[in-house]
Amino acid sequence: MTPLPPSFSEREALWLAPFAMRSADSRGRRYPQEEQPYRGPFQRDRDRILHCGAWRRLSGKMQVFTGDRGDYHRTRLTHTMEVASIARTIGRGLGLNEDLIEALALLHDLGHPPFGHAGEDALAECLERDGGFSHNRHAITIVEELERRYPDFPGLNLTAEVLSGQATRIDKTTPAAAPLLEVQVVETADSITYDAHDTDDAVKLGLVTLDELSQLELIRATVAEVRVRWGNIEPNMLRKATVHELIDRQVRDVLQTSAATIALAAPASAAAACRAGWLIHPSAELAARKAELEAFLYERVYRHADLVQVRRLAQRQMRELFDALAARPERLPPKYRDRIAQVGQRRAAAEFIAGMTDRYCVQQYDEIVGT
Ligand code: MG
Repeated sequence: MTPLPPSFSEREALWLAPFAMRSADSRGRRYPQEEQPYRGPFQRDRDRILHCGAWRRLSGKMQVFTGDRGDYHRTRLTHTMEVASIARTIGRGLGLNEDLIEALALLHDLGHPPFGHAGEDALAECLERDGGFSHNRHAITIVEELERRYPDFPGLNLTAEVLSGQATRIDKTTPAAAPLLEVQVVETADSITYDAHDTDDAVKLGLVTLDELSQLELIRATVAEVRVRWGNIEPNMLRKATVHELIDRQVRDVLQTSAATIALAAPASAAAACRAGWLIHPSAELAARKAELEAFLYERVYRHADLVQVRRLAQRQMRELFDALAARPERLPPKYRDRIAQVGQRRAAAEFIAGMTDRYCVQQYDEIVGT
């Protein structure tokens, strides 16, 4: 008789480092559910996020650039997939729980409203006297309350580890105990990912040139390495090779630095790793180089006049749409009208808008306000 394949706990026992989070140690779900023999709890969380409606709408939400600039650049969905991929690479290298990492990565931007951070700022302004709006907190509202996909409980009933991992993203200014290493990996991978892909998109869309970016030490050294390997390649290939190298360089650095930090702290369990503080990070040198790149991207790309104009228009439309919906909640779809009893008229309107894609938001604006 063919032996049964190993259970997820047996697989984890074989592969995971002592400081990784184990499925068997999970604090479980709010609504207890029987485990499945072939899928561990974090793998199940990953799948639940992947199958929910809010996940699919990420394809229509902007990262940095809206759809008026063609189809090359990243959307919130492709950004999320890149974060998950890079985070898994780092997690695997360090012997961490990849299923948990992937679930956390897929969840991390799920609460983004249309039009990225500009949209978030607009909603925060609308709810200024009603508790504000945070996309990181909204991701939890989505998976705890707004998604309705199971007959016996609201939300996705995710594990405590995935929910508390996302919760650490809400307020990064208040020092708190370090989260699980898997959470730290996703946080670090997010930064690696956007530094690399925003560089790629900005050059491809012609907002800056690779020459201009080469004033920065990180890009200069990266381009130099590409040239040593491939010589004088044509500009498009140079950009692509530079972006691959930029990811590789950051991942290598984070793996080396974090492996050394972990070896020094020698945590014997996931809980001990949290007590040891932040162990996953780039070297001080790379952190400084990344800060230079981010400052440059902020000035030259995120604050580019064309982008500012698009964002201002979107913010104005979102505020006007919010005012119209908050004043006339009968225009909300039934799902959000039902939310009024729990969260009030204003937040229910904001939650409806937060779930929209960029395109749907403009369409709703035209239909409800623009007439
Ligand atoms: Mg992100």
